[in-house]
Amino acid sequence: MYIGRFAPTPSGPLHFGSIITALASYLDAKKNNGYWKIRIDDIDSPRIVEGAELSILKGLESLGLLWDDKISRQSENIKEYKNILEILEHKNLTYNCNCSRKKIAILNQSNLNESTYNNHCRSMHHPSSSKSAIRLITDYKSTNFIDRVQGSQCDNDSTGDFIIKRSDQLYSYQLAVVIDDQLQSVTNIVRGTDLLSSTIKQHYMNNVLNFPEKIYMHIPIATINNQKLSKSNGNKLNNNNSSLILIEGLNFLKQKIKRGIENASPREILKYAVKNWDLTPLQKIKKIELSSTQKLLVDNTHT
Ligand code: GLU
Ligand code: ZN
Repeated sequence: MYIGRFAPTPSGPLHFGSIITALASYLDAKKNNGYWKIRIDDIDSPRIVEGAELSILKGLESLGLLWDDKISRQSENIKEYKNILEILEHKNLTYNCNCSRKKIAILNQSNLNESTYNNHCRSMHHPSSSKSAIRLITDYKSTNFIDRVQGSQCDNDSTGDFIIKRSDQLYSYQLAVVIDDQLQSVTNIVRGTDLLSSTIKQHYMNNVLNFPEKIYMHIPIATINNQKLSKSNGNKLNNNNSSLILIEGLNFLKQKIKRGIENASPREILKYAVKNWDLTPLQKIKKIELSSTQKLLVDNTHT
């Protein structure tokens, strides 16, 4: 049974970029006679905006993207995160890290890029403190996976041991998401290519925990002037014509669109789109600049 999901962070309303992820994951699930579940990724409390969850859910409903099953929230899974962290600790797969981002950059002699870490604290045996982060000891030799759109992915060992509990004592996105997907019995993960480097980590941890393999598919991200559309860039949808938004989403995803369908209801459009869902035109594409019509749907602070 195919179980897919859309996992928005409630840091703002849906924007065109998140609609594309929602749409692609919905179409892929429905094409495969699967379930499409919603999870609210609300673990990163500093990023949560009041009212955003409701506005995201209303946005999905108005597009006809109706989910199966009850909505789950990361904030309900904290106990599970704690349990799994203890399991990893008992297996001696974790250590405390006191490095600041700045220190890591110096150790790496590179820019401030948290995604590579040279495992500096692995052998230090720092005692735990309320200021230290916890990292997972990694050995990436067997982490290759085949992405359904992006093809074969392998880590070149550049990632290093990654954080599973942050220095602010919040569980990390990487830890949470692996556990959440397992709790929701997710089989298929569809999301943007901006998360490919996270997938290497999540796929690794999924294996360490002996959870069943997930099937991944990373679709191109939407850009304006080569910059990813995001809530933090101030990208807001400025149009509430659901049919038009869906048609432009399908155009973005390079799907076949029959003449006249733009006048149909969202429900009809989705039915047509499920039937014709085709991954072939997306193969190996990492990002796509919005067309001029699509740009008109977006309020954008950098234009
Ligand atoms: N919550 C994440 C985001 O909004 C996506 C998580 C995921 O798909 O795994 O970027
Ligand atoms: Zn460290």
